[in-house]
Amino acid sequence: MAKPDRRSEEAALYRRLYQSARWRRIRHHQLASQPLCEWCLESEIVTEATEVHHDGAHRGDIERFWSGPFISTCKSCHASRGQREDLGQVTQTFGEDGWPVG
Ligand SMILES: [Zn+2]
Repeated sequence: MAKPDRRSEEAALYRRLYQSARWRRIRHHQLASQPLCEWCLESEIVTEATEVHHDGAHRGDIERFWSGPFISTCKSCHASRGQREDLGQVTQTFGEDGWPVG
């Protein structure tokens, strides 16, 4: 059973946006123009980019979701650094034992 979450509605909206044909075109174009992970490149590491990240927070701003700016990232960069930026802040998650996670 999924727990009710005040963010779940917005998360569902963005899941739909990410599945749209329009987003797939944007994503394809971004990865074609910058095929390397830009965050790995900052550390002089060359990694193939597989994900497209919105530069800066886009939450609640659909125009920015479509218009960018975008950053090409690899999966691990996107998972670690990208999700914090998507929320527009550094977030603290708490595990089941009540202690901060990550
Ligand atoms: Zn990377």
